[in-house]
Amino acid sequence: MHVDRNYENIVIVGYGIAGMTAADTLRSHGYQGRLAIVGGEPHEPYSRPALSKAVLADVGTIEPQYLPASDHGARVFLGNRAVALDLKRSSITLDNGEHIDFDGLVIASGSSAKRFTDHPREFSVRSHDDALRLRTRLHDQPSVVILGGGPLGMEIASAARKIGCAVTLVHRGPPMASHLGPYLGSRCSEAARAQGVELIDGRVAEVCAPDSADGPITVCLESGQEVGGDVIVSTIGDAPEGDWLADSGLLTDGRLKVDTRGRVNEHIVAAGDIAWLPTADGHERQPLWTAAIEQAKTASLALLVGDEAPPLDFQSYFWTEQFGLTIRVSGDFPVHGEPEVVARGQKANPDALLLRWSGDAQSAAAAVGYRIAIPKLRKVATGDFLPS
Ligand SMILES: Cc1cc2nc3c(=O)[nH]c(=O)nc-3n(C[C@H](O)[C@H](O)[C@H](O)COP(=O)(O)OP(=O)(O)OC[C@H]3O[C@@H](n4cnc5c(N)ncnc54)[C@H](O)[C@@H]3O)c2cc1C
Repeated sequence: MHVDRNYENIVIVGYGIAGMTAADTLRSHGYQGRLAIVGGEPHEPYSRPALSKAVLADVGTIEPQYLPASDHGARVFLGNRAVALDLKRSSITLDNGEHIDFDGLVIASGSSAKRFTDHPREFSVRSHDDALRLRTRLHDQPSVVILGGGPLGMEIASAARKIGCAVTLVHRGPPMASHLGPYLGSRCSEAARAQGVELIDGRVAEVCAPDSADGPITVCLESGQEVGGDVIVSTIGDAPEGDWLADSGLLTDGRLKVDTRGRVNEHIVAAGDIAWLPTADGHERQPLWTAAIEQAKTASLALLVGDEAPPLDFQSYFWTEQFGLTIRVSGDFPVHGEPEVVARGQKANPDALLLRWSGDAQSAAAAVGYRIAIPKLRKVATGDFLPS
């Protein structure tokens, strides 16, 4: 593959996993020009998935779990945010007023946590600093109400129980079922209940936060039930970090849409949680760690070589750790129906299971506590590998 565009000045906005992977990919494919990375957080890139797992329950280090250092040689602006993009001038503006010109741009600004209020008793976890704030509060063992029973909510509930907090979790339907399907969802619910989490099936109508920082914070459900706690943690999804693009003309209905190679246009690509990719059901985001890596590789190569870059070919992979369960899945989730048990754990871990769902509409595999490399798990999902 040859680099057919003469870029001299590529800028990457966002220094998470997508931004870092883009920088490495550009360099590994021969880009030798200037590279600047604008990272809104004061930290070098770190493991975001660890925030709701090891980091919350940890009592020791306050450092993020940094990703291995990269030698991309970029000029890095840490703790600065891009606030505007001027397409005519091919320039971005930072929050300190500085302008950075570019001839190629990678947009990797990720997303932020949705919340009900700005009250200090409502927590959310998107950044390392968010996780440290919540961790500090949890170690006082407050009663915690978690809103949302997806992976993030359940992982935070698990960590809060480990610390000794009373935990109530509100979710419409069984937690995790909308992500994994009823079979694995019920295993997660059972594990949560067994560890003392009160699960409430309901939909939040309103969060009533006190005027002061001290008063009780109350969650009103659509059923009329009220749930109170010392703190609430909202895990109700994320919103793409696209405000800085609002006047750029790049957004369609507020969405940054890309093609199958991550291109927004010939000189601008996007990857990670900010990017809406074409699918059979319209443009969708894939807010997953491994998806961000694959998208960043595809998009930055497409920036350099255009159509010569292969389109994104991502087979979904996702993992969660909660209530003593480690579940890793690949394929078409959520899945329905009973799985086939493909393999069981050995003596050291007899409860471990390797599961597979197959049929006209689904092809998926799950390793529940079962040790298997990701590429093999992907092959189990597609039916191309079965352990003997
Ligand atoms: C707590 C938590 C746990 C998770 N666990 C899992 C998991 O177990 N498995 C899994 O697959 N996925 C998990 N995810 C999702 C996964 O972490 C994301 O999909 C992934 O981090 C997306 O990478 P990204 O680089 O696109 O965005 P991000 O990681 O969000 O990085 C974007 C960076 O850009 C910065 N930024 C934003 N706006 C600007 C701006 N205007 N200027 C400059 N910089 C800006 C942000 O501050 C951030 O540092 C988890 C997410 C969270 C929050």
